[in-house]
Amino acid sequence: MPGFELFGDKERKELNDVLDNGVLMRYGFDGMRNGHWKAKELESTLESKLQVKHAQLVSSGTAAVSVALASAGIGSGDEVIMPTFTFVASFEAIMMLGAIPVLVDIDDTLTLDPKAVEAAITSKTKAIMPVHMCGSMANMDALMALCKKHNLIVIEDSSQATGATYKGKPLGSIGDLGCLSLDFVKIITAGEGGAVLTNNETYYTHADHYSDHGHDHKGNDRGAETHPFLGYNFRISELHAAVGLAQLRRLDEFVTIQKKNYNILREALSAIPELTFRTVPEGGEESYSFLSFFLSDLETSRKASIALKEAGVDGCFHYYDNSWHYIRKWDHLKNLKTLYPVSIEVKNGLEYLQTKTFEQSDHYIGRNISCLIKLSWTEEEVIERAQLMVKAISSVL
Ligand SMILES: *Cc1c(COP(=O)(O)O)cnc(C)c1O
Repeated sequence: MPGFELFGDKERKELNDVLDNGVLMRYGFDGMRNGHWKAKELESTLESKLQVKHAQLVSSGTAAVSVALASAGIGSGDEVIMPTFTFVASFEAIMMLGAIPVLVDIDDTLTLDPKAVEAAITSKTKAIMPVHMCGSMANMDALMALCKKHNLIVIEDSSQATGATYKGKPLGSIGDLGCLSLDFVKIITAGEGGAVLTNNETYYTHADHYSDHGHDHKGNDRGAETHPFLGYNFRISELHAAVGLAQLRRLDEFVTIQKKNYNILREALSAIPELTFRTVPEGGEESYSFLSFFLSDLETSRKASIALKEAGVDGCFHYYDNSWHYIRKWDHLKNLKTLYPVSIEVKNGLEYLQTKTFEQSDHYIGRNISCLIKLSWTEEEVIERAQLMVKAISSVL
């Protein structure tokens, strides 16, 4: 991660196809586009690559989560269980529909703890949203079993782990719906963009229509289409889809490079007895986008994080003190700082955040450091980095 590091001729070629005819929109203008349908082609490539019946491209990963929820009929007053460690997009996407994000603890996988999930299920719970953070995954067997037992929908967010698999299945293809982001810093980028994945025909039709004002996409006269239900505009452009198409074709190449770099760093860090690595659920194969590890306590991790920066090792995150990814600094959510009035259901539904503590999440995130694996490093650079990391971390132990 991220794919933009290797942006090149392949991406330019796909973009030029679009620039040659000037049809920047994914729908319509059939006669003008000289046979170029980049969004459609990217969707069918996603379907085969990620082994799902349907992929619906949208304008962002955040939009993908909202569209997935809406497609499954989740809205006002419904509770959606999500992890304390994720990206702010998770609760934004839930709240956009008037639903209530119910935050629960993570475990040593850095993703949803199935026990914490089960304890949070109420009569209002409609869905569980595992977020596969930092290149690895949640325990999907445990979560799928829970959802079956309680009749809940599973919406996977694989934005940070596209290319990873669980028991041979690509992440995003296991739940009822999967979401991924193609934003500029993800493993494959379109500049901006996202996708909803599903094997469910109804959810797919909903996602297809909802992301384009409810258009039914029947026939080839856009102006004559009907609107079976209300929708919105979450369309991706052909320009973005063109870049995403070139990048998706390179996904295996990117994962292979990351795995090589990851293994060199992991091997070196294994020499530090006080350091342990994040747990990957049995049967999981990472996308190797990050190398994540734990130190003995919060203070040691804080010191190690500073030592890494001082040693010039960039791209290592101590998420405990980060405002994008961890509950501790989400004051705008806790204090419900919205620009507009929100429903009383959401207000009441979020009151728990005033008092609830997340000791188990603090325990893991406080001790965790996650380091981005880059695609553009040379082998010498990775080896040098490994030595710098071992030295910096050892210096604070
Ligand atoms: C990046 C990201 C998103 C949102 O994607 P955008 O395309 O930036 O809207 C959602 N979830 C996770 C876990 C992410 O990392």
